[in-house]
Amino acid sequence: MPSKTKILLIYTGGTIGMMKDFETGALKAFNFSKLLQRIPELKLLDCSIETVSFEHPIDSSNINPEMWDQIATMVEANYEIYDGFVILHGSDTMSYSASALSFMLENLAKPVIFTGSQLPIGDLRTDAKENLITAIQIASLQAKNKPVIQEVGLYFEYKLYRGNRTTKINAEHFNAFTSPNYPALAESGVHLKVENHLFLQQKTGKKFIVHKNLDNNVFVLKLFPGFNEGAMHAIINIPNLKGMVIETYGAGNAPTDSWFIVALQMAINKGLHIVNVTQCSGGSVNMGQYETSTELKKLGIISGKDITTEAAITKLMYMLAQNVAPSSFKTIFETSLRGELS
Ligand code: ASP
Repeated sequence: MPSKTKILLIYTGGTIGMMKDFETGALKAFNFSKLLQRIPELKLLDCSIETVSFEHPIDSSNINPEMWDQIATMVEANYEIYDGFVILHGSDTMSYSASALSFMLENLAKPVIFTGSQLPIGDLRTDAKENLITAIQIASLQAKNKPVIQEVGLYFEYKLYRGNRTTKINAEHFNAFTSPNYPALAESGVHLKVENHLFLQQKTGKKFIVHKNLDNNVFVLKLFPGFNEGAMHAIINIPNLKGMVIETYGAGNAPTDSWFIVALQMAINKGLHIVNVTQCSGGSVNMGQYETSTELKKLGIISGKDITTEAAITKLMYMLAQNVAPSSFKTIFETSLRGELS
């Protein structure tokens, strides 16, 4: 008889494990062992599940790169022991964490599936049980003794997405995530429909490498009509700033005011890496399509293409930490490293 697949459940916090504070009525994270007692169904799954937890579970608004290191370390330390990993995480910043981990875990050959819920597990109408149970089932899928999914995914409300393609779009609906520029990798209904052709193709035999210590000397600037020169100068003069994502309009368009273009040129001359990402929730940057992006193209601004802001900012942190040479930074950023852009 083949041995059962082994799944490690990593609990970081989030609504899934929260309870109402008696005094304030606000939701806050609580002890993980109680969380598992609430889901006796887990014992029915055909895999063995072990758990580790953050010492102090968090609301995901408090996540930071040091905690991404902690998650990566938990995966690294248990990589050979388990067939798959499910990360319980608050939904608010789940797309950032899934994106960050996708870059940090190079040559990943096992599933790392993020999930959480909009209602706590103890709530009568909770979405937590379906999300957790199916995420575990997805992480335990095997074909020819190998994990079917070999990348960082995000499972929420019946859909498995590539983690670094997702964004949170709703603070209330159970259907809280979307993947605007890449289809779902799997969909759960009466059957689990798995789209194998959409998975990342791993190069076999490559050693699993974990990269930590992301560089957070970065900034996201969302353009808006009325954005002024003083603010632009304050931003580009932030001490130690090394990279910036600019959320532009439409297909990567921005004002043509000379003060804006001159400031960008100054920033680039100082060595800042600037990435152009669209504010639109779907579609791609295409510098040069309009006059309002021609100057950006001439300046050598990096095209984020159809990347999400979450993936762009974490990719910047990752590449800065890798000390990628300035001469190849643009080319590498514009290349898909983990399926994050088309
Ligand atoms: N505030 C919560 C968190 O992100 C929301 C959630 O878990 O869905 O931790």
